[in-house]
Amino acid sequence: MNILRFAVITAFFAVLPFSHIPAFAASDQEKVRVFACEPEWAALAQEVGGDKVEAFAATLATQNPHYIRARPSLISKVRKADLLICSGASLEIGWLPVLLKKASSDLQPGSVGYLMASNLVTMLEVPVVVDRSMGDIHPEGNPHVHLNPYNLIIVGEVLADRLSGIDPENTSFYKDSYRDFSSRMQKAISRWESEAAEFKGKPVVVHHKSFSYLINWLGMKGVGALEPKPGIPPTTSHLKNLLQQLRNSPADVIIRTPYDPDKASKWFSEKTGTRAVVLPYTIGGDSQSGDLFALFDRIIALLK
Ligand SMILES: [Zn+2]
Repeated sequence: MNILRFAVITAFFAVLPFSHIPAFAASDQEKVRVFACEPEWAALAQEVGGDKVEAFAATLATQNPHYIRARPSLISKVRKADLLICSGASLEIGWLPVLLKKASSDLQPGSVGYLMASNLVTMLEVPVVVDRSMGDIHPEGNPHVHLNPYNLIIVGEVLADRLSGIDPENTSFYKDSYRDFSSRMQKAISRWESEAAEFKGKPVVVHHKSFSYLINWLGMKGVGALEPKPGIPPTTSHLKNLLQQLRNSPADVIIRTPYDPDKASKWFSEKTGTRAVVLPYTIGGDSQSGDLFALFDRIIALLK
């Protein structure tokens, strides 16, 4: 009798740790680790992946994503990642290849864990002839694709498929969560489009061509950039030419990101009397742009 009781108690305690503790610990480890090159893609991963993913953004809204250093902390993050999501089209050419060398084979081009948004959407400003000697940092077209919210819906769908491929057990979760995101986004788009109807045809000057997808989506007219070419800092002669060019039909607004230097934009604003505005280019671009929906709310409010 005593031996039997001992055996039962021993069996109970032997089973307890294995049936409970490891399962609890595993739920954290099993989160899909997403390495996003920019905050907008981390936010999209969070929208589609919910609590099944842990998303990390390699850059901040205050940093120019063209120019980031592949520092050791990023290498350590990318090594542990299950999925990489970036803008692509050479936006990260200066730093992502260095990180990819250290990443696993599951994150290499062509694999399920490698997702470049620019490969999925219709690209703007694709050059007919690329002349790298002229220093253009948009050789494959404009890589700043997230500022057309329809592109977020397109990329989100593929992202849900990729997450399902990596974590098949939660396939229905990712599908439902994408459907929910897409329907909320479509409703918001209708609202933004009606709020922004007044911007149609309005001429806009940008510092860098960071806002081409926004301008195109809202039917505004990009009439010039303060940079002579993407990535080439504004020069006096270029600014004077632009001033001359817009003499008879001035721009309505001059826009720049939080990380663009303000000098050229201020100079142009003083010369023309045109309002210069900093728009939150991505999540965290100002204190109110905390998620993808708030980002567009904020951009439209600031343009108004
Ligand atoms: Zn750019």
